[in-house]
Amino acid sequence: MNSETNRKLPGVGASEGVAVGPIFVHAPGELEPERKEIPAEEVEGEIGRFREAAAAVVKSLGETRKRLGDAGNEDEAAIFEAHAELAEDPELYSGVEERVRNLESPEAAVISVGEEFAAIFAGMEDEYMAARADDVRDVASQIAAELMGHGASGLATLDTPSVILARSLAPSDTARIPKGIALAFVTAEGSATSHVSIMARSMGIPAVVGVGPKLEEAFGAVTAAVEGGEGYAVADPDPETVAEFGRKQQRMEQERSALEEYRHTEARTGEGRRIEVSANLGSAEEAEDALSWGAEGVGLFRTEFLFMERPELPSEEEQYQVYRKVAEIFGVKPVIIRTLDVGGDKNLPGVDQPEEENPFLGWRGIRMCLDTPDLFKPQLRAILRAAAHGNVKMMFPMIVDAREVRRAKEIFEECRRELDEEGVETGPVEVGIMVETPAAALGAAEIAGEVSFFSIGTNDLVQYTLAADRGNERLRRLQSADHPSVLKLIQETCRAAQEAGIWVGVCGEAAADPALIPKLVELGVTELSMSAPSIPRAKKAVSEI
Ligand code: PEP
Ligand code: MG
Repeated sequence: MNSETNRKLPGVGASEGVAVGPIFVHAPGELEPERKEIPAEEVEGEIGRFREAAAAVVKSLGETRKRLGDAGNEDEAAIFEAHAELAEDPELYSGVEERVRNLESPEAAVISVGEEFAAIFAGMEDEYMAARADDVRDVASQIAAELMGHGASGLATLDTPSVILARSLAPSDTARIPKGIALAFVTAEGSATSHVSIMARSMGIPAVVGVGPKLEEAFGAVTAAVEGGEGYAVADPDPETVAEFGRKQQRMEQERSALEEYRHTEARTGEGRRIEVSANLGSAEEAEDALSWGAEGVGLFRTEFLFMERPELPSEEEQYQVYRKVAEIFGVKPVIIRTLDVGGDKNLPGVDQPEEENPFLGWRGIRMCLDTPDLFKPQLRAILRAAAHGNVKMMFPMIVDAREVRRAKEIFEECRRELDEEGVETGPVEVGIMVETPAAALGAAEIAGEVSFFSIGTNDLVQYTLAADRGNERLRRLQSADHPSVLKLIQETCRAAQEAGIWVGVCGEAAADPALIPKLVELGVTELSMSAPSIPRAKKAVSEI
């Protein structure tokens, strides 16, 4: 099975399902055009080639802009408009042409000029302008890719359904892929709880992560087959393998229809204990789909994706519109909005984030928000306003003690007072926290007095309890919530909550694990929140307790 046409790439099964399709390699900044000198007589011809390539990129960006605009996605459309403008910038043209006249190849020249521009942007005081550096790099590498015959390299302009191969995929990358285009993700880095895996699960597509450097051997392949449950991909599969994957796909369809009966039921244990099964969302666009999977609410709305998918920070009004839309779609069902949780592996365009040696132990989540009221308050105001239109709750991420909760609540109350004074309508909002640091679990008794609920973030709780980076593929055996020390912390959280009379949910990936669900329920958890396609299976697991 390991012949050249059927190379097996083992990794971590991060999102179930199988897919077969053409490969698209996402390798930003890794385009290394040959730095060879061109013959003097070819200068004019090469300049012509550069202009053609740039025009092709402008055209393709314009088409994407139009597609997004027609779909009513104005914010994203604006990004592509800005990129198209960069690709037509006369200074970019004159910079590249000057280098080509000095006998540099246009591929190398456009990358170098792109880097020069990016450095200028990056050095600007204005945060918005500084964030443009990545845009310029992106546009330059798209033109270089076009020159090298790879077509436009941007994920955002991809229009053929493809299996996406990459060293790593940031949430901002996955957010840019047009809907329905990614058949599967295969990455060299990452683990089952890294964000690319979470995104794949909520998109309902298979993913294999943590393949390691071996993945690059497959960058030249044309097609790939992906087994997201067992955790491997096959580069250039032979007809036999393709047929085998077809049969698997069919079997999975059958399993899926067998779960149909659980989709819209209320989950109850054999003893009749009611467990609410909700969805984790990364955007408002996923809300309708989540309801169709049988979500009884939103247990975790990860708002950071809303911040990451655009070049500048969303305004209070923009946030309000998004939160309100989700609240209205869910009606009386609860929608728990998590306040901004960036830092760690999630960076934010428009925020001056320090270089940190240990970003997961750094300035992330509530720590950053408490230090930057200009970032925090518009979000809190937007949540309060959205609460007038549905059953909105809110929780703070990365809490370590009651003092942080009190401080965050003070700022929240300040926002409510301000809105009241301005005569702006708000609604009631229950406040909870994520229990995702060992400190919060151990201090749950004190914190419980400050909040209405706990939601356990097992992804981070495991990482911090076992001192094992959630994205490090070598530490796979240390990335499960089924570890006695983690279970003890969950137990302590539930005990403290019960004493204080508040409820506990789980919104980390453990919530969707049928093997762990009975344990979580036994410890006292009454709400499970997960990527929507996992909901029917979780309801079945509850009903079998
Ligand atoms: C968690 O840590 O378990 C969690 C749900 O939050 P995130 O995965 O977004 O860090
Ligand atoms: Mg977390």
